[in-house]
Amino acid sequence: MTKIICTTLLVEKSPQALPLGAACVASAIKHYAGTEKECDVKLISFSREDEEILPLKSDEEKADFIACRLLEENPQIVCMSVFVWNRTIFELCAERLHKQGVIIIAGGPEITAHPDIFEGTFDYTVCGEGEIKVPCLIESIIFNKPYSPETFPKSLDLKDIPSPYLDDTIDPTEFGGALWELARGCPFKCSYCYESKGEKTVRLFPEERIDKELELFAQKKVPQVFVLDPTYNANKERALALLKKIARLTPDTFYYFEARAEFIDRQLAKAFTKINCALQIGLQSADENVLRKVNRSFNKKLFVKNIGILNQEGVTFGLDLIYGLPGESFASFREGINFAVGLYPNNIEIFCLSVLPGTDLFDRAQELNLTFEQTPPYNIIKTDKFSPEDKKKASTLAQACSYFYNDGRAVPWFMTICRSLKTKPAAFFEQFYDYAGKNKITLDCCEHKIIEENQIKFITSLYKQRQLDRYTKAAADIIRFNGAISRKTATGISEKIRLTYPPEYIDSQYSLDLDFFIKNVHPKPCEIKI
Ligand code: SF4
Repeated sequence: MTKIICTTLLVEKSPQALPLGAACVASAIKHYAGTEKECDVKLISFSREDEEILPLKSDEEKADFIACRLLEENPQIVCMSVFVWNRTIFELCAERLHKQGVIIIAGGPEITAHPDIFEGTFDYTVCGEGEIKVPCLIESIIFNKPYSPETFPKSLDLKDIPSPYLDDTIDPTEFGGALWELARGCPFKCSYCYESKGEKTVRLFPEERIDKELELFAQKKVPQVFVLDPTYNANKERALALLKKIARLTPDTFYYFEARAEFIDRQLAKAFTKINCALQIGLQSADENVLRKVNRSFNKKLFVKNIGILNQEGVTFGLDLIYGLPGESFASFREGINFAVGLYPNNIEIFCLSVLPGTDLFDRAQELNLTFEQTPPYNIIKTDKFSPEDKKKASTLAQACSYFYNDGRAVPWFMTICRSLKTKPAAFFEQFYDYAGKNKITLDCCEHKIIEENQIKFITSLYKQRQLDRYTKAAADIIRFNGAISRKTATGISEKIRLTYPPEYIDSQYSLDLDFFIKNVHPKPCEIKI
């Protein structure tokens, strides 16, 4: 029996971080006729946030730890799933394993992007999908058979791939959630994405497999599922049919979908409200010219209209933005934040552009005047419109937005406060960042009650500066009331709060306009139980 370990190092510990790629390869080796009876396959995954790994300072120490743990299993072959965040550690780890005679096969996005540079680091590299190539390679190693990767099809027929959930290779309950692959490929070709040089086709996993996986999630009571299908809603009939099954079989599971705003309509929005879910929508920039440069189509009018449908139907959604895109200036990035917040998303995720090897953007970097880090994570350093100083400012804006808006659960009242101050969201976040620095507020704290108190203190200080103190009590009531409701929803724990104004008015259309509110609602201090 050849002992084989499939492994990866995950970026974080979260229900969204599962070793799915490594599990798919492990599952494929188990099922491959050429190695089925010859191999003992095990999946061992690590996370950068594992309690043994987190305190280790250097990549060398992390590589030592992982190598020692893997060697305890006495493997003959180790298959590594290599990503931007684990590449250096796995290169060092491979050195240590080699010394013990272990054969290393490496695959994953980092290998696919530039297989040539790893010569000598790993024994074998596998580009693209590994579910057929890796088992064939292992068969060739065990039986000394020829292996010709060029004979494999460019992309696999998904009906030939076993499910790592259905054969018990991976148990989603161990990770607190599942990544659910419904499709591979994407009909779009955004320049910064690995799909930019793909075939522009979408391959769907067979309905039978998807149904069985859904039944398994129901049986195991999986609390959260992240759907991996970048354009889930592109095929409306398929999306509606699956939403119905999800509602019937897993009514208590929370789902996260990636969606394209242009494919949203009322019927689909209503169907999303029938399950527990949130949609994440890539906006990336609000500037059509910038998006054109990265090959993204964007119809602003349609985007606003369809996001409006989500808001009208009460669908929870978030938006993604990227800073450092070619053609984006700091001013247009700020406008992107203003535009995004004005659409009332539940959260805004702001990322620094990575110019990933293997993407169209990487190939065109010189033509587009992009300067970026030459080692992972390949973050942008500057463009002809975005200086390193702009990058710093964008990063501070992202931190302030994440703390104040996302972790601060500010969506119900944020625009009301901005309007009362006649301030736009980006300017508001910048002022908050300065305030946080002066008042020693650490922006990585996620405890909502603490964030809420900081929100109230900051807004109180702004009203004071601008002689708008008349709004302070109403604003504090609205923030406390909504904050307590969000905590009750999240934890189920009731709490008592003191208010200056009657709750029935705080929880009404009146509270959308602070000026109208204080002129028409009379204070009536009270304590209420949420
Ligand atoms: S970013 Fe999303 S929509 Fe664009 S090509 Fe990649 S997967 Fe497709």
